[in-house]
Amino acid sequence: MYRTHDCGSLRVSDVNKEVTLSGWVQKSRDKGFMIWVDLRDRYGITQLIFDEDRTDEIVMKTAQTLGREYVIQVKGTVIERESKNAKIPTGDVEILVKELKILSASKTPPFTIEDETDGGEELRMKYRYLDIRRNPVRENLIFRSKVAMQVRNFLASKDFVEVETPVLIKSTPEGARDFVVPSRMNEGQFYALPQSPQTFKQLLMVGGLDKYFQIVKCFRDEDLRADRQPEFTQIDCEMSFVEQEDVLNIFEEMTRHLLKEVKNVQVDKFPRMTYQEAMEKYGNDKPDIRFGMEFGDLSAFAKARDFKIFNEAEIVVGIAVPGAASMTRKEIDKLIDWVKRPQVGALGMVYVKCNEDGSFKSSVDKFYSQEDLAQWAEATGAQAGDLICVLSGPTNKTRTQLSALRMEMAERLGLRNPEEFAPLWVIDFPLLEWDEDTERYHAMHHPFTSPKPEDIEKLSTDPGNVRANAYDLVLNGNEIGGGSVRIFDKELQALMFNHLGFTPEEARAQFGFLMDAFEYGAPPHAGLAFGFDRLVSILGGQETIRDFIAFPKNNSGRDVMIDAPAAIDQEQLQELNLKVTVE
Ligand code: ASP
Repeated sequence: MYRTHDCGSLRVSDVNKEVTLSGWVQKSRDKGFMIWVDLRDRYGITQLIFDEDRTDEIVMKTAQTLGREYVIQVKGTVIERESKNAKIPTGDVEILVKELKILSASKTPPFTIEDETDGGEELRMKYRYLDIRRNPVRENLIFRSKVAMQVRNFLASKDFVEVETPVLIKSTPEGARDFVVPSRMNEGQFYALPQSPQTFKQLLMVGGLDKYFQIVKCFRDEDLRADRQPEFTQIDCEMSFVEQEDVLNIFEEMTRHLLKEVKNVQVDKFPRMTYQEAMEKYGNDKPDIRFGMEFGDLSAFAKARDFKIFNEAEIVVGIAVPGAASMTRKEIDKLIDWVKRPQVGALGMVYVKCNEDGSFKSSVDKFYSQEDLAQWAEATGAQAGDLICVLSGPTNKTRTQLSALRMEMAERLGLRNPEEFAPLWVIDFPLLEWDEDTERYHAMHHPFTSPKPEDIEKLSTDPGNVRANAYDLVLNGNEIGGGSVRIFDKELQALMFNHLGFTPEEARAQFGFLMDAFEYGAPPHAGLAFGFDRLVSILGGQETIRDFIAFPKNNSGRDVMIDAPAAIDQEQLQELNLKVTVE
């Protein structure tokens, strides 16, 4: 038997017990006549003591050879410590070692395996198995497992069936590039890895399964902007004979259940906001509503004076940053530089200080009177002591820029408290989105999303303003889930493909299987998918999903530990009948 106890369990009540422990050497202190070793496993750390007077000479000698991260097994007696360590649960006891066996020696690890480590990100990823020995990483993985368990418990209690769908499929357009896999048996042909199991879950509804879920890997070959992974996990769900309201209710209940079970946080009914409202108030379809700073549209009054920049702008919009009127000129100049950075892209920023005495001091005093500025203050909800920051320009761009500024100011003011949870539903997304590059409309969610029935007639006259029965679940400024009511009518689906620029032949070639299925009695259905990695990281109070993935990829999509992707050998290429030419 390798162990009678783990390294986190012994207490004073165990004194005098003969025990066997196994684990890693975290640290060893050798005083010659006495050696102390911190023995670590997943459950904790227990101190071992080797004492010249009480420990066998050979054991003593072996103990002297122990290096960091050696895996050892010891047998000994639990004794009470003279100097106790209140920082660890086993800190009242130590093991007086009688027998020691080295199970596996270790090279000196390339970084320290402690909560605070000297290892940089790339190094830790290369030796991820060592990184996982560290408490914070291990705890994140255990936390992830707990959340997954709660999801399964909840969905099972509501009669959802977990079904695995294939990983080698045919490309489905969900907005990203596919990863493809060559087929040896079907020369010259390729599978695609699923961007999501979207069409399969709809087919499961046609198959009568009624309620489906799957915690599933999805693959998207996208440029890896901050905090994205080429393979990621979804909690993918679909339900039959439901309307939008049913889906929102059940997944709101699930989210509430998770917050309660894993965070002990109770949240009231989630607010709902239309996409339109989210864009107007926050310039963002995933607003962080833990704090205010809602947008005030100043266009009407700001354009009534002689200030050319505003007069030529499509929109003039501002936010009131609480307490920021105390910023110095220099600090404000720095902030203006910040909004002008290419990542934000504003051309400048107008500001108004709301003084304690009720007067205003602005960067455009030449053009606007105190009464004018009072209107701005009212529109942005500014109080004395606040700083109104105003941007102008084309509507969408300006709102996006102001949203970036709003988030930045919230960050600086410490308003983004990771232990506070503010979920909401954003609903009524546009069905279609204009793509500048291809000069066509794309499905904003995906091509199977149903338009709002009352908007269908606008499809040919005003496609940009057709709303969809599509919804996102937003938590603390992050989209953690999204879905839609699906089209289940063959004619409407054909019409959608047509509007998305597919000829009937192309639609048939790509989605014939789905259109065929719809000829055999498709139930009304709807669903959504949660981004599991992000959900876990937000619940875990952090924003980097990598920290919650056992073996993540780096920003160039590489796994630096196994060194993938990699070239394959000639023989494999021949078998696939492929030739590689790299330009
Ligand atoms: N398949 C969709 C996605 O991955 C989610 C859904 O519509 O259910 O975003």
